[in-house]
Amino acid sequence: MDGVMAENQRLFVIGGGSSGMMAALSAARRGPAVILLERKDRVGRKLLATGNGRCNLTNIDSSLSRFHGGDSAFIAAVLSRLPAASVIDFFEELGISCQAEGEGRIYPRSDQASAVLDVLRWELERLQVEVRTGHEVRAIVRKGRGFALQLAAGGELRAERVVLACGGMAGPQFGSDGSGLRLAAALGHRLVDPVAALVPLRLRTDFLRKLKGVSFAAYGEVRCGNEVLRGEQGEFLFTDSGISGPPVLQLSGTAARALKANKEPCIVLDLFPAMSLEELAFALEVRFRCQGHKSIADGLVGLLHKRLIPVILSAAGIDDHSLPGAAITAAARLGLARILKGWSLPVSGTMPWPEAQVTAGGIALDEVNPETLESRIVPGLFFCGEILDVDGDCGGFNLQWAWSSGWLAGLSAAGR
Ligand SMILES: Cc1cc2nc3c(=O)[nH]c(=O)nc-3n(C[C@H](O)[C@H](O)[C@H](O)COP(=O)(O)OP(=O)(O)OC[C@H]3O[C@@H](n4cnc5c(N)ncnc54)[C@H](O)[C@@H]3O)c2cc1C
Repeated sequence: MDGVMAENQRLFVIGGGSSGMMAALSAARRGPAVILLERKDRVGRKLLATGNGRCNLTNIDSSLSRFHGGDSAFIAAVLSRLPAASVIDFFEELGISCQAEGEGRIYPRSDQASAVLDVLRWELERLQVEVRTGHEVRAIVRKGRGFALQLAAGGELRAERVVLACGGMAGPQFGSDGSGLRLAAALGHRLVDPVAALVPLRLRTDFLRKLKGVSFAAYGEVRCGNEVLRGEQGEFLFTDSGISGPPVLQLSGTAARALKANKEPCIVLDLFPAMSLEELAFALEVRFRCQGHKSIADGLVGLLHKRLIPVILSAAGIDDHSLPGAAITAAARLGLARILKGWSLPVSGTMPWPEAQVTAGGIALDEVNPETLESRIVPGLFFCGEILDVDGDCGGFNLQWAWSSGWLAGLSAAGR
């Protein structure tokens, strides 16, 4: 065991991910000795995987609507302490030249997530933060005015203040296996049930084997009955167990929350969002009239992906795909147009945690002070990052949350 008296003066950050590194930096800039504990053999493993290795480190349009979770006033209070422009300044000062891409996404000009990690590690070193990798905290026990941190490898560390930055459950291969949530719950914190978000969805349909690998542009909505929960446009992709693609990732948290609430969400696809139902029905009529000698199925070649055609025709109740196009009735044509503009696919679940980019749910926000990120239940314990009940859209918003909340938790813990 380390020298108990010395440890007692120190601030411990548990978790060397994006938010934990930021918390350690902001605390160390304020003065106290900081020790960062990371269970993996190196810090920032997930950061290296972000943005397909390019790290979409923030988004200049970080409006509140891009963040989800327990309480938007809480989220706004935390984001305001280190907004996106300040994150860019922070990284520019450390040597990362930032560039903006579509929809406000910010990347390092070198296109390397490893560069972002390098500058964070160097700053930790400069500020003499003691980084201890291979240190997994298994339990946190309150001892007097401080804490005893019990390590998985045995031994105990004494701390006066603790920042818990262990992430959620998404991407456990990078270290965040939910142990931080268990540590917080054991100390009396209430959890909002975690669900996977920014993740492909599973569908309850029998045609996926035929469509695996088919991609197409569409507008998709998550609906529960007639209630539209959220819509996104972009490139969808069928997989062997469901549906993926950028819009699906954005919709997935909404669908996952609905499933958790025992609702029955569907992804409803509009394959022709630029046309009204009537315009599409008319276009189909012209198409089948002009190519009346072809079968209905062949008449759709060039309009739809070939592998989609039989599945769509069956969904529209047209079973004989070899009928000549000229023979299709007006009612059947309208039925086909209706499916093309509102193809409803029942969601049965999300893909598992290793395929998820983020956790929706986590430590309930009403038990945390938004001005400091200190626990209202356990004084001296602070939280930051994905462990809290906050998640963002795809596009740099989750790292923005990690930086803002890490910054605030570190400053508050150091100043307490
Ligand atoms: C593949 C992928 C790509 C992504 N791309 C982007 C992107 O481009 N832009 C974006 O904004 N967001 C992206 N995200 C999301 C973003 O990376 C996370 O939201 C963010 O890293 C969360 O930071 P965190 O510090 O809260 O948690 P994490 O980064 O998960 O860090 C938690 C750390 O705590 C450690 N730890 C856990 N338990 C313990 C314990 N008991 N003791 C000691 N250490 C422990 C873990 O090993 C880990 O290092 C991506 C996520 C994934 C998986």
